[in-house]
Amino acid sequence: MAAITRLSTPSSSSISHIWRRLYSSLSSIPETITSSQSPFLAKFNNATDLARKDPKHRNVQWVFLGCPGVGKGTYASRLSTLLAVPHIATGDLVREELASSGSLSLQLAEIVNQGKLVSDEIILSLLSKRLQAGEDRGESGFILDGFPRTIRQAEILEEVADIDLVVNLKLREDVLVEKCLGRRICSQCGKNFNMASINVKGENGSPGIIMAPLLPPSHCVSKLITRADDTEEVVKERLRIYNETSRPLEEVYRSRGKLLEFDLPGGIPESWPKLLQALNLDDEEEKQSAVA
Ligand SMILES: [Zn+2]
Repeated sequence: MAAITRLSTPSSSSISHIWRRLYSSLSSIPETITSSQSPFLAKFNNATDLARKDPKHRNVQWVFLGCPGVGKGTYASRLSTLLAVPHIATGDLVREELASSGSLSLQLAEIVNQGKLVSDEIILSLLSKRLQAGEDRGESGFILDGFPRTIRQAEILEEVADIDLVVNLKLREDVLVEKCLGRRICSQCGKNFNMASINVKGENGSPGIIMAPLLPPSHCVSKLITRADDTEEVVKERLRIYNETSRPLEEVYRSRGKLLEFDLPGGIPESWPKLLQALNLDDEEEKQSAVA
């Protein structure tokens, strides 16, 4: 598709090679990178302005940011279908590796069982493998979800990909908590549902938010379970930690003109068309539905 040209140009055709090289030199990257030290913070201009105005010049090397429970996986996945680029969620990569007999699966199982965080090195190794496999299949472009989470990870990413847009999905915290507490999983088929019916009134000039519940079909109703960590206390703590680590990352991308802030106006039916508008993609969807 016309929107994606960057990855097929000679300068970036060996992206997974660069990933591998970077992975091997990762140990030389300092743990903490402050904004004053970082070339990553300094070297960019407002290239995204151009990309935003004209979707045909878009490269679609995008990153999705957003706190846990905001639904970024859903929107990233929908956009990846629309733009015919893969949606690469690092959480999925970890789960797939765990379920496989891959070289990292034992190491990962140990880390996850101990409740530890998966290191940058492992995430990068999985990403590298995923991009290599994608390149072999002729994929171009990507939408990343779950990476980067820190400035250090962003710095690593910057070396290998020319991220042209970072979409930051936001939702009012009280709504977010209510939504997280409404989550249910079917213990039989594994599908996710949401019992929360959100209807908050607008205040101080901000619009109200209506989000319909995502109710299960009758055969799932008796098998619904709540994740043990979806308690109010844990949800709020998760948000606090997310805000703390993501704010500097958002600031980095904001200062470079790459951050698109998007306040979700409601559930998918309300948010999806507005998101497409914000991304200048509303005509893209019309074209596709005309073809279909
Ligand atoms: Zn079910």
